[in-house]
Amino acid sequence: MNTIKENLERLRKAIPTGVKIVAVSKFHPAETIQEAYDFGQRIFGESRVQELKEKYEKLPKDIEWHFIGNLQRNKVKYIAPFIHLIHSMDNERLMLEIEKQAGANNRKIPCLLQIHIAQEETKSGFSPDECRQFLATGKWKECTHVQLSGVMGMATFTDNKDRIRKEFRLLKSLFDEFKNTHFPDEPAFKEISMGMSNDYPIAIEEGSTMIRVGTLIFGQR
Ligand SMILES: *Cc1c(COP(=O)(O)O)cnc(C)c1O
Repeated sequence: MNTIKENLERLRKAIPTGVKIVAVSKFHPAETIQEAYDFGQRIFGESRVQELKEKYEKLPKDIEWHFIGNLQRNKVKYIAPFIHLIHSMDNERLMLEIEKQAGANNRKIPCLLQIHIAQEETKSGFSPDECRQFLATGKWKECTHVQLSGVMGMATFTDNKDRIRKEFRLLKSLFDEFKNTHFPDEPAFKEISMGMSNDYPIAIEEGSTMIRVGTLIFGQR
């Protein structure tokens, strides 16, 4: 078995500089995260609020914690004091709650618009049209504590590389459309979070700026 250090080194060599690695540490203990931290990793992704909160309290305070899972409104308050980026903003009511809790903490929380690009039914996210409508309402402009920073999506879990590529290409084209339509003068709107252990090379070819990789770094959960 490879060590976390070897896995991280291999991954860093395999991707262009400028593409960020979110080390997805869900279900792995704090000691495992500390090991990756000791090899220089600072961005970690978690998908459960309670687990994230406990790890946040235990681990070094210069870690950038990213939330990548389904986020319930009543739990936003637990991560609002420290969360660095929420990848999974996919409805207006959630945005309004993030706005409220970020405000209560005197913070501006960066959020990505999660978009459903896969063919599977189970994945969450705006449909492309829902996201267009959401942006067109302009409500987000009133949310001064929410910083819309780009898009996130998950491709279908499949061996069919053409399909994966098509889905990532769709996400990139939506990013470009939203950028041109709503954020031409907003440098913060710049992230395309796509690519996981099984499909990150395709995601990078299609324009990913941020890959979310768990298994390849930490092994099976
Ligand atoms: C678990 C998870 C990942 C990481 O998946 P791996 O296949 O282990 O790399 C990435 N993104 C999201 C949203 C996840 O839930």
